[in-house]
Amino acid sequence: MNNRNGQTLQYDKENRLITATLGVTTTAYAYNADGQRVKQLITVSGVTTTTLYVGNYYEVTLPTNSVTKYYYFGAQRVAMRNTNGVTYLHGDNLGSTSATSGAQNSKQWYYAFGGVRATEGTLPTDYTYTGQKADSYIKLIQMGARWYDSDLGRFAQPDSIIPNPYNPQNLNRYSYVLNNPIRYTDPTGHCSIDEETGKCEKLDYTYLHVVQGLGFEPSGLEEWSKNDLNYFLGWLRAGVRFTNNTANYMNQCNQGVAWTADALASAREALKLISDYVTSVGGNVMEALGLVGGGTFIINSVAVPTGYAGWHDSANNQINVLISAQDFIGVVIHEAGHAIDYNYGNGGTIGVGGYWSARAREWLGVAGWQNNPGTGWSHSNPVADPGKNNPLENFADVFRGAIRESSNYDQYKQQVDALNAMLAKIQ
Ligand SMILES: [Zn+2]
Repeated sequence: MNNRNGQTLQYDKENRLITATLGVTTTAYAYNADGQRVKQLITVSGVTTTTLYVGNYYEVTLPTNSVTKYYYFGAQRVAMRNTNGVTYLHGDNLGSTSATSGAQNSKQWYYAFGGVRATEGTLPTDYTYTGQKADSYIKLIQMGARWYDSDLGRFAQPDSIIPNPYNPQNLNRYSYVLNNPIRYTDPTGHCSIDEETGKCEKLDYTYLHVVQGLGFEPSGLEEWSKNDLNYFLGWLRAGVRFTNNTANYMNQCNQGVAWTADALASAREALKLISDYVTSVGGNVMEALGLVGGGTFIINSVAVPTGYAGWHDSANNQINVLISAQDFIGVVIHEAGHAIDYNYGNGGTIGVGGYWSARAREWLGVAGWQNNPGTGWSHSNPVADPGKNNPLENFADVFRGAIRESSNYDQYKQQVDALNAMLAKIQ
């Protein structure tokens, strides 16, 4: 929303409100790296009042130098001190400041969505509805990352956590606490907290789309930490998709299988390892996984009747992984290795549907390594069986080894060196 009751609202690249202009009044905001407001400038007809914020504890307004301090008992804001003295803050079940006593006495009642229903006296604090900071100039309430409009009962900015592509129709990115303000609050701007259970209901809501698309159990996902969740959502935003479609390969009928929270956590871990490794060797993981320019990288969960723990489908930038694979993380990394090899360009010299990128050869340290065309492709040991070596598989295995099994990596590196020596003799 850029215009609201004649106000012009401007946002920065991270979708944070930076200025609001109404007539002769302009309000500007600055945030720290965590998105917390650290500074507010209110300019009325050219005269500016600046407020600096130190966490939620301390505010100083310039040029008057008036200081407001807040006091907490646990997470609960219980009192404040300003030039008038100490005032005690009393909240309702949602944490809204509903009464004050001590130096300044007041009462305030709210409508369900946060509009002010009635007041007695004047609240000495701008922590109001659900205990969040209201801005009396722009008449919005700051809820973590976003600003909320209590007149409309919705956010002024869309949620930056994008709807899941599987089922976007029910998700309104502006809606507030699932339209149930009696029960939920949203102090972060991304997540509706159930005041009875303390759980983040928005997780379920976001996951609902994943759940509907994939069929995995949301109960397991609730165990994830906030960091894990954010990291996972980051991959979704980047274009990684977790599917469970039926896939065919080599005339085998492969059934899509619902993701479990555990398998999803393993895939997330594999992506982290891949990302760390690709970055550490100077690659760009977005490019490597084919995500630049809005591309998607699909990790498909399947049950394979016989033979394969996973395979790469270059046409769809998709890897298919047997969800019951013993080394699930290793399989994801191996198959992603094929995808990266392919995505980094078919610069190799191998044939017959193979690919072996310049980057892959660089990582293998085998710039002169040639395939033996016509000898067939199989997972094989290039030392024991050099005639049937398959550089695709060796790359994928070396990639996996380099990432998570240094002993395995050493083994393959030895094999690669031995192979190079042999090839040098032949040539
Ligand atoms: Zn492979």
